[in-house]
Amino acid sequence: MKITMPEKVKYIIETLMQQGFEAYAVGGCVRDMLLGREPGDWDITTSATPYEVKKIFKRTVDTGIQHGTVTVLLDKEHFEVTTYRLDGIYEDNRHPREVTFTASLSEDLRRRDFTINAMAYNEKEGIIDLFGGREDLERGFIRCVGSPKERFDEDALRILRAVRFSAQLGFQIEQDTLKAVKEKVEHLKNISAERIRVELTKLLISDHPEYFRVLYETGITKVVIPEFDPMMVTGQKNIHHIYSVGEHTLHALKTVADKSSGQQFSAREKIILRWTMLLHDIEKPGTISLGKDGQNHFYGHQEKGALTAKNILKRLKFDNDTLDTVVHLIRWHDYRFVLTPAGMRKAAAKIGKEYMELLFEVNRADTSAKNPERTAEKQEKLQMARTLYQELLTRGECVSLKELSISGRDLLAEGFVPGPRLGEILNQLLSAVIEDPELNRKETLLAMAKDRKEVQ
Ligand code: ATP
Ligand code: MG
Repeated sequence: MKITMPEKVKYIIETLMQQGFEAYAVGGCVRDMLLGREPGDWDITTSATPYEVKKIFKRTVDTGIQHGTVTVLLDKEHFEVTTYRLDGIYEDNRHPREVTFTASLSEDLRRRDFTINAMAYNEKEGIIDLFGGREDLERGFIRCVGSPKERFDEDALRILRAVRFSAQLGFQIEQDTLKAVKEKVEHLKNISAERIRVELTKLLISDHPEYFRVLYETGITKVVIPEFDPMMVTGQKNIHHIYSVGEHTLHALKTVADKSSGQQFSAREKIILRWTMLLHDIEKPGTISLGKDGQNHFYGHQEKGALTAKNILKRLKFDNDTLDTVVHLIRWHDYRFVLTPAGMRKAAAKIGKEYMELLFEVNRADTSAKNPERTAEKQEKLQMARTLYQELLTRGECVSLKELSISGRDLLAEGFVPGPRLGEILNQLLSAVIEDPELNRKETLLAMAKDRKEVQ
């Protein structure tokens, strides 16, 4: 089997070999090449020490020199070159006390997490596969290198990585590895929120976000997002639903921002949509009531859910942009669009234009995971909302203060007094314009403002 490596990777490996060192592409890139997937990045492992690597290549950066990693820059591209290493004794289920370099490729491969991630390749020797990685790739298994329990004791993040890779590749977790996942799950308490966030996000944006179920079944959610678990045991006696809250969430998660959306979302948008879907009903268990009609209701789950989601995302150390957007979408995920031009202008004013497309997608996925008897009708309504919204955009109608044909500054120039009343007047003008877009002309608005000035 021949792997095609990028020229620059070949150049780095060949240069190191010409200098008498061993060098291979290693880890994720070998796995991805064998699967016919485009590798995200190319990591190189070598017997050369960081000092030697730096002597050989002109432009390098000391990225993680204490761990043996030097980044080699070639034109505008960069590649991580890491010296064969051994991880020393691990402390607190997360950090090796020390990292030592070794002359042996097999020792370096042995410290890696899963068999499919522990293969090396160069053109001279082909694939080095000491732990059955290729077979596991063919059979679709995530299996630890060595004893799963020991490997999870060393670094508990691997527990979460096992599920993440299985979701990315559609693989099963091999039996002994799965058993150890369940047994060692508590160790995840010792892992930083940042590392957990990275793995959870990779799982959510994978082709199988519904594998989030495995996190629940193995007890991982109980440690990393305990708020999730009650959803799985909360039924919904309601004409709109056929699933429990948790099953509904997993179905919606599978659909949101996938091919069925017919849309291309950016990486950022996909992260936002998947996290929103995961958490949109997080407070249904906390707000459930049984009405006189014999139906379950979940009054206020949108607002309460937004707050809970905010706490979860804060705890996971999300950036403010992602956090704010997800929280906002959860707050409005159940918004009932009034299907008239003015109704849609009101919706856009309340929700914000920058969120509308995302909210439509949340709405589509949410609806598709409810009672199928009512799906067609709901999707039709959503389509109508989208069409009305597009028309509003085409007409360039105003739905926010910044689109109003008059500004606070214009009013001050006309002798209005600065203060809260000025803001009130502008908001009243905006409401009037949302009702009747024809009013959005400077002269008209100024006259209207003057009428209101008397009470200033
Ligand atoms: P991707 O970059 O597509 O998420 P990857 O396999 O490249 O997947 P990385 O997290 O970039 O994953 O790690 C690169 C390689 O380093 C892995 O393939 C694996 O060999 C090794 N590795 C990474 N993290 C660990 C870990 N916690 N324990 C053991 N080995 C690890
Ligand atoms: Mg990688």
